[in-house]
Amino acid sequence: MKTNSATSRPRTSHTTGTTPSAGLALTGVTLTYPDGADRLTALDDVTLTVPPGSVTAVVGPSGSGKSSLLAVAATLITPEAGQVVIDGTDTTGMGRAELTTLRRTRVGMVFQQPNLLPSLTAAEQLQVMAHLDGRAPRAARPRALELLDAVGLADQAARRPHQLSGGQRQRVNIARALMNEPAVLLVDEPTSALDHERGAAVLDLLTTLTRRRATATVLVTHDRAHLEAVDAVAEMLDGRLGQVPDGRLS
Ligand code: ADP
Ligand code: MG
Repeated sequence: MKTNSATSRPRTSHTTGTTPSAGLALTGVTLTYPDGADRLTALDDVTLTVPPGSVTAVVGPSGSGKSSLLAVAATLITPEAGQVVIDGTDTTGMGRAELTTLRRTRVGMVFQQPNLLPSLTAAEQLQVMAHLDGRAPRAARPRALELLDAVGLADQAARRPHQLSGGQRQRVNIARALMNEPAVLLVDEPTSALDHERGAAVLDLLTTLTRRRATATVLVTHDRAHLEAVDAVAEMLDGRLGQVPDGRLS
């Protein structure tokens, strides 16, 4: 069964410093954007390793480069320098079509706004992902229902977005990102539209799913609350990424 193979992926200790063959590894990544006659450095020699089954939170002020980091990790933007390795695959020099396939099969993305299709039920939002992959949406229904159950929405499968709360929509969004069993899960400020309590529940859900499904998860947030359960916290400041020492958050 798919779930079993995912949970039995080899795990590498976060503290030994060994390079995992699976998970996510960014090495020496530098990204600039055009800025008038100049260039703005959004990512400055960023290195980040996230083993399977672990969550690294990335905190930092607005404009520090957090979303750029996720865009590079998702291979949506190619950096000027550095290497992005996804689930053991070095993406350097890969073509557009190859990258699209890699993203669709190995990367799950959750953005701030759920972007659900208004006319589809919760289950159908997930089944559509199979269609993008060239598979029959009907055949994907059992997996869609299993994932909705995993995010606590077993009884909401037939509801459309307007019949769901903000927190429930974000849960559908998370379940959808897991549809294709991604090795890497990239999450950008998932709680910013939610109240404190619902935000805490969503973070809790993300850490639980990460361990169960052995994803290498990067969680971008500007909210430092509820980060006790994550495996590592890194701080982005002006495009530079640094580790936050243990205990600094409490
Ligand atoms: P964060 O997610 O931490 O708020 P971003 O990664 O969105 O930070 O942005 C980092 C910096 O890069 C900011 O100064 C932002 O204005 C700039 N930036 C982001 N996207 C673009 C873009 N497409 N073109 C030019 N500058 C950009
Ligand atoms: Mg951002």
